[in-house]
Amino acid sequence: MTTTELNKNRNVLEAKQAELTRMVRNRDGIAIEASPDALDAVQHATERELAIRHLDRDFTLLRNVRAALGRIDDGSFGVCLHCDDDISPKRLAALPWAAFCIHCQEIADRNQGEIAEDAGNFLINAA
Ligand SMILES: [Zn+2]
Repeated sequence: MTTTELNKNRNVLEAKQAELTRMVRNRDGIAIEASPDALDAVQHATERELAIRHLDRDFTLLRNVRAALGRIDDGSFGVCLHCDDDISPKRLAALPWAAFCIHCQEIADRNQGEIAEDAGNFLINAA
């Protein structure tokens, strides 16, 4: 990968990191909101649960983005963590924080349904 390509990925990742950090911070306020009304409390509990689930997903993504930035620094960016093959440029364009090549990711997704679902959402968001 050329320095230009690396810098482009770094810019995308840093923008994503800033966006996620902001989202995670904003959701803190929603999550601790309390209500004296019982019905509202149920509603809030549901919203809180949903917010926590989203927060969880954003934290995971944020961790992946930070890890990818670390790999740019140590020179291992774009290489599959599992099999050492290059991750395809097309995949990196859609998911610059991808840590695995498509083959290893498919194996990981088969073993963990929840991560597969998240990866699907990320693809939709990235498109
Ligand atoms: Zn691989």
